[in-house]
Amino acid sequence: MSSGLFDQFKSWYENRHDYARSWKERTGGQVVATMCTYTPEEVLIAAGMLPVRVLGAHEPQNVSEPHIFGMFCPFCRDSLSQGLLGRYDYCEGVTLTQSCIQYRQTFSSWRQHVPTVKWDYYLPMPNEVQSRHARTMHYGEVKKFRSFMEGVIGKPITDLDLKRGNDVVNENRRLLRELFEYRKETNPRVNGVEALYASITAQFVDKEDHNRELKRVLAELPNRKQDRPEGVRFMTIGSENDDISFMAMVESVGSTIVIDDQCSGTRYFWNEARPGDDQIAMIADRYCDRPACPTKDYPAHTRFDHVLKLAKDFNARAAIFLQQKFCDPHEGDYPDPKKHLESNGIPTLFLEFDITNPLGPFRIRIEAFLETMSEEELF
Ligand code: SF4
Repeated sequence: MSSGLFDQFKSWYENRHDYARSWKERTGGQVVATMCTYTPEEVLIAAGMLPVRVLGAHEPQNVSEPHIFGMFCPFCRDSLSQGLLGRYDYCEGVTLTQSCIQYRQTFSSWRQHVPTVKWDYYLPMPNEVQSRHARTMHYGEVKKFRSFMEGVIGKPITDLDLKRGNDVVNENRRLLRELFEYRKETNPRVNGVEALYASITAQFVDKEDHNRELKRVLAELPNRKQDRPEGVRFMTIGSENDDISFMAMVESVGSTIVIDDQCSGTRYFWNEARPGDDQIAMIADRYCDRPACPTKDYPAHTRFDHVLKLAKDFNARAAIFLQQKFCDPHEGDYPDPKKHLESNGIPTLFLEFDITNPLGPFRIRIEAFLETMSEEELF
């Protein structure tokens, strides 16, 4: 598909730092580097700020090693290197909501060694989100975060401000889901690369700009014609993945990526905050209720059925696990969803991701996987 319908998202993705700098010039607001999709962006937006999720650059680097171990996940190392290299020098603040120990170390190193950081905030969050104490505890933490942010901007963040934050983020989630619905179609008119451009840019573009663009694309989609073969329908599963070249390669060898369970995709936006009178409770509950990351799927494992349901709803024929090397939470989780999918007729492939990925060997693995499936169909 070459209509250029998703060009604005692509351009935001490729020029994300320019976008943030011009946003700052345009609005006079502060930009905040956020780590992990459990960060309650609604509070930052209510404070008049632009939350910008830190992403890697997928290029070799040699600056993170003095600060975090080489056997920490590539995403953490790539993210930290971006800070150390000054790529996020326009960000006044940096925040992390508790996820895994490796990300925590990235955050600590960032706030200590990135010289442009003016303030930082670590937001604790229970990993056992299903515990009966989790919501109350998280409510208290989001409240403290609001007070801290009031100190940063030197004025109160009103309930109306929070409502504005909740509304715009909820609208973004709704529009992204509307877009992803198109992927259920046979030979969907939105492919995996386009969907990734849309969902990943939502994590660093002003939600009002992003919503406007989503509405424009959604208005044009009904008239869009497909001009590529569908091939095998894949699902991708893992943590953060914005490796566009990898996704494009997969879709160039006879497949379409129709859905994901990744924090660069559906896990970021799948559920809205439920309406209520208490804006803080709406925010806190929403993050406890969202599709869980393996770090927060305790004591019961709710993820496995959720992943299977997504695969079924979007009619995925097979799934590819994209495992960040050395990521303990996802690696520990992996055997169970693999078993769950395979026992329900969905074959899986495991690929280990690094800061840069070997597209040639990965291509051979994907082609071999496709071949096994076509052979299975013959017998
Ligand atoms: S959950 Fe895994 S991929 Fe994500 S930051 Fe932690 S170690 Fe890295």
